[in-house]
Amino acid sequence: MKPTWVFASNNKHKLDEVREILGLHVNILSLNDIDCNVNPEETGLNFEENALIKCKAVSDFTQLPVLADDSGLIVLALNGNPGVKSARFAGENATDNENMHKLLAELEGVADRQAHFTACLCLYSIGTNPLYFQGEVHGKIITEPKGDKGFGYDPVFIPEGYSETFAELGADIKNTISHRKLALNKLLSSGVLSV
Ligand code: IMP
Repeated sequence: MKPTWVFASNNKHKLDEVREILGLHVNILSLNDIDCNVNPEETGLNFEENALIKCKAVSDFTQLPVLADDSGLIVLALNGNPGVKSARFAGENATDNENMHKLLAELEGVADRQAHFTACLCLYSIGTNPLYFQGEVHGKIITEPKGDKGFGYDPVFIPEGYSETFAELGADIKNTISHRKLALNKLLSSGVLSV
């Protein structure tokens, strides 16, 4: 029988991606499914700390194992920004569109467009040590948005080996090469599902 985990995110896009990639192996409940509406402040200094903050906040509401994803975009020419602040790059309540346009503005005239997405997944069950799984996908930032699928910075990110953005490629391709997929692959091959 498949185990049941709670995914600690209010981001519907992340939830859809995790369900599509992991759904064969794990029954993934949303925060809605367990009537939990926590939205903890992400005060961690790095992705791991923020992922654990999310797990622990949701663990107060459930006995089930909790999976969290803290992720972001790292741009070389911006010294690693927006990084852990990717969701809040243009301000505390900024939309994806505002964040993306701030990124394009900061990169105006910049020749070096190298960037990567990183995802840190944390799996946490009360009374056990948290487990972490990381994935990265490298690529470049283009100068104007293209495509209408996905979320966040997808319309301006072209993964290495492709000529279209994540927002043009869509879930069928993104979910086979993304930072989230690579982190989930590590989780699946860790043996955590066979214990
Ligand atoms: P957080 O993990 O909730 O702190 O937010 C992650 C932020 O990083 C999102 O709001 C997006 O701005 C960005 N991000 C993370 N993963 C992706 C992705 O797969 N595509 C586009 N943007 C992403």
